[in-house]
Amino acid sequence: MKACLAALKVIESWGVKHIYGLPAGSLNAEMDMLYEEKSNIEFIQVRHEEVGALAASMQPKFSGNIGVVLGSGGPGATHLMNGLYDAREDGVPMLAIIGTRPQKELNLDGFQELSQNPIYSDVSEYNVRVAYAEQLPKIIDRAIREAITKGGIATIEVPVDFGWEEIDNASWYSSANGYRKPNKPPIDEKDIDKAVSLLEDAKRPVIYAGIGTRGHGEDVIALAEKLKAPVAVTGKNYDTFDFDYEGLIGSTWRVGWKSANEIIEEADTILFAGSDFPFAESTGVFEGKKFIQIDIDASRLGKRRSVDAAILGDAAEAIRKITEKIEQKDESSWYRACLANNRNWREYMNRLEIKKEGDLQAYQIFNAVNRYANENAIYSIDVGNVTQNSVRHLHLTPKNLWRTSPKFATMGCGLPGALAAKLEFPDRQTWNLSGDGGFGMVMQDVVTFVQHKLPSIHVVFSNMMFGFIKREQEETNEHLYFGVDFTEPVDYAKIAEAQGAVGYTINSIDEIDEVFAKAMEAEKAGKVVVIDANITNEQPIPVEALRLDTKYYSKEEVKAYKDRFEAWDLKPFRKFLEEEGLSSIKE
Ligand code: FAD
Repeated sequence: MKACLAALKVIESWGVKHIYGLPAGSLNAEMDMLYEEKSNIEFIQVRHEEVGALAASMQPKFSGNIGVVLGSGGPGATHLMNGLYDAREDGVPMLAIIGTRPQKELNLDGFQELSQNPIYSDVSEYNVRVAYAEQLPKIIDRAIREAITKGGIATIEVPVDFGWEEIDNASWYSSANGYRKPNKPPIDEKDIDKAVSLLEDAKRPVIYAGIGTRGHGEDVIALAEKLKAPVAVTGKNYDTFDFDYEGLIGSTWRVGWKSANEIIEEADTILFAGSDFPFAESTGVFEGKKFIQIDIDASRLGKRRSVDAAILGDAAEAIRKITEKIEQKDESSWYRACLANNRNWREYMNRLEIKKEGDLQAYQIFNAVNRYANENAIYSIDVGNVTQNSVRHLHLTPKNLWRTSPKFATMGCGLPGALAAKLEFPDRQTWNLSGDGGFGMVMQDVVTFVQHKLPSIHVVFSNMMFGFIKREQEETNEHLYFGVDFTEPVDYAKIAEAQGAVGYTINSIDEIDEVFAKAMEAEKAGKVVVIDANITNEQPIPVEALRLDTKYYSKEEVKAYKDRFEAWDLKPFRKFLEEEGLSSIKE
């Protein structure tokens, strides 16, 4: 058998159905063998390697299956970087197969020849050049095993001629049948007791649920109800809970909710479960509180803050154990104040969503997505204001899948994510929600959906700016707003039509329903749909910098803030605490 054909058979044995990439001279053997294996493994031709790499990094976030991408020697391979780092930062497995010149032409400073392994050494867990043809399937097998077990990147450089060489069939095998998920560490009951004792003493507890609790929202809620503690999530874990759960107070900091920001500030005890919140140190949000951490990875315990109690193990299991031991609490003034504050915030979000008049804003488009999307729709979210708006205005439930590039936070991930999601779940409705900044980076690949017949809906929130960064400039820069505005409008509906998709434009609130109804019909008919929503360039309310309380800000400042963000009915948490006879810890 040819070496590359054997390698493809190994890849298939690990459950891989698609390989993303672009062909190139240094990948000719791979392409030749992919042709032979085309009934077992589909080559997804993309128009930019970065799209292939991001699809391969987003794929395991949706389905758990390792993503595989090809990059040709030199520029094709360096284009993979964003996808590789995105996967690494999220700890998901990915295999990059990188082409290079034939063995006898190596080290001659030839065309597109780079010293590639050093380039990928930082991002990869496993990173080698195949030394001779017979090694190719073996190295691929090891690479996948390493990537899956370590939750990281394997990069394999392959001299192009190796792929065609005949190798002995007895020289290779797949180890996929021997792969076992590592057991979860056993939980020490003494650690549970310590956590229970701290929670019993807490007057103002908050459960902070990271993705370690993914899929176990019910366990978290059972504890929350017994403890009478509100549930905060990370900006990665929204689809673990039903948006309508009244105790859900959203995430903290900028891509978050007012409720979580204020409530965590006032809390005395945090149960930090399965999270590695990367803003913990820079924001100091957990300082001065009792801090109980649960993590499955011992190296993470105490990483973000010193702990008062630490539990090594699975978050859901630990939470169930805590729930068993904790006493049922009566409803407390703390819990009532939290819920009232949360209702006030939810009413604010809802009012924006259901507006019938005024200029078109992102919120009314999210309201339409909520109304028109299938119950189990998949959402691939780009990075920027759209991330922030999606955590507030998408009414998710555990039936959805909602993914983005949360830690590496690379723009342009929405479309590739939707590509991977639709390939992995062909029967589920798939949405790509992107800003015009992110979509502009990858929009040439709308045609990839058309070419591979992947019905999907792509909403472009066009606000003519890099909005997320523009808001940062407002906080930090002397010279406001430089390089963040777009002066030339782009017609994304036309760009879609030009690639064989169906394009719609929405300019006002009253056009939303007609367009969404048509878009749903088109998607059902198997079309790729792009909706260009020309929204205002207003910023979403900055909940990390609330100016609602006249005790701390002048009346003029509060009025200006409320007027700017239509927040006339929003009240500071202090008011709700006082209504319950509690005072703010800031006093
Ligand atoms: P991870 O960082 O993946 O950490 C998960 C932790 O859980 C790890 O330590 C892991 O070892 C552990 N774990 C895994 N499985 C288990 C298990 N079964 N049991 C126990 N432990 C387990 N997020 C916010 O919250 N606020 C923001 O303001 C914010 N801003 C953002 C801005 C942008 C533009 C973008 C794109 C994202 C933003 N995010 C924000 C997301 C943020 O960057 C982080 O990615 C996110 O907060 C991390 O979530 P996490 O801690 O749940 O996941």
